[in-house]
Amino acid sequence: MEIKEILPCIADPSKYRVIGKVDIENIAEIAPYLARILPNASYNAKDGWISFKKGQRIITIHSDRFVTMTMISSKEEALGILKEIEEKARTAWEKRDEIDISKPLQKTFIGALDVYKYLPKTNCRKCGEQTCMAFAVKLLNGEKDIKECKPLFEDKKFIGIRETLISLLLSAGYEIEL
Ligand code: SF4
Repeated sequence: MEIKEILPCIADPSKYRVIGKVDIENIAEIAPYLARILPNASYNAKDGWISFKKGQRIITIHSDRFVTMTMISSKEEALGILKEIEEKARTAWEKRDEIDISKPLQKTFIGALDVYKYLPKTNCRKCGEQTCMAFAVKLLNGEKDIKECKPLFEDKKFIGIRETLISLLLSAGYEIEL
């Protein structure tokens, strides 16, 4: 496993967004099994990634072995998570005959505050709402589309929170067309 990048976490400036890589060659093949043994995980079969919540952190495992992690306190913590993913991936592969991948995964519950954390928090009103919090509430109610937050898609500095928010919404069962 290795750490590729440590960046500021926009959701919490005291924490980091970390990009790492796991040493599991066939992670794409393992992913549907791994998603069943990771708590609160969602699996996107089309793009082959897994997303799961670990406390406040949102972790996404991509099919090219890259892993993005939000709200990380230290490099050691990130390495610990990568190690845990590698161990669970090996276990999932060894036990694949016992894991039923036809069962739908449980959806994660998310609230407006979870969504708000991964919005730009500028209250710029470009989405037609007075505040980012109002937008978060409407997004969860299905009255707004994530793409209506234009800064999230147009400003490169928001790429990290955008990816995380999309993972979070998908893990909660929201359908997103990008
Ligand atoms: S467009 Fe995005 S950043 Fe601006 S108020 Fe709406 S949710 Fe907040």
